[in-house]
Formats: sequence, C-alpha cells, structure tokens
Amino acid sequence: MIDIQRLEDIKKLICTVDHYEEGVRHLNLFIQEAAQTQYLEKEGEHCPTCGSNDLQGGSVDVDSPHASQPMSCGDCRATWTDQYQLTGFADLKEGA
Ligand SMILES: [Zn+2]
Repeated sequence: MIDIQRLEDIKKLICTVDHYEEGVRHLNLFIQEAAQTQYLEKEGEHCPTCGSNDLQGGSVDVDSPHASQPMSCGDCRATWTDQYQLTGFADLKEGA
C-alpha cells in the first residue's frame, strides 16, 4: 500500500530549495522500498527493472540461515541477487 503521507512529506522537502537534495534522497529510498515490496508481491517472478518474466537464475549459494541466487533479465539485461531466508523444515521422518 502506498504511504501517501510519506510522499507528501517528501514533496514538501523537494519544494523547499534548502531541502531539495534531502527530498530527492528520501524519494529515491521510497522508490527502492516500493520496488522491493512489488518484487515480493510478484514472488520474484518479474524483473524489478522492466517487469519482464524472462529471467535467468544462477546457482543458489546457501549460507544458513540465508541463501542467495544471482539473477538476470533476458529483456533489459538487469542483474540482481535474490535473497532467501530459512522459514522452517518439512517432511521430517524419524530414523529407524
Ligand atoms: Zn528487465
């Protein structure tokens, strides 16, 4: 959900000459966070830059409790790293 009040605060900063650069910094941060949220909502199946689903993933590097995977977009050539986190276990079978 878009935080309208936060955007209004950023707009006030940008509209003030003395705080223009601070406002742009806040706006860039807001855009980055929105892109992260959108990427998670689409479950990482679309390029965070152009929205294409023509993605290629490299090998997964596990460093428990985290894992990462280099990703690239076949359309716009953007590259990034998907980040994963251990959420639990499944299919436990006790030893005989
Ligand atoms: Zn792309």
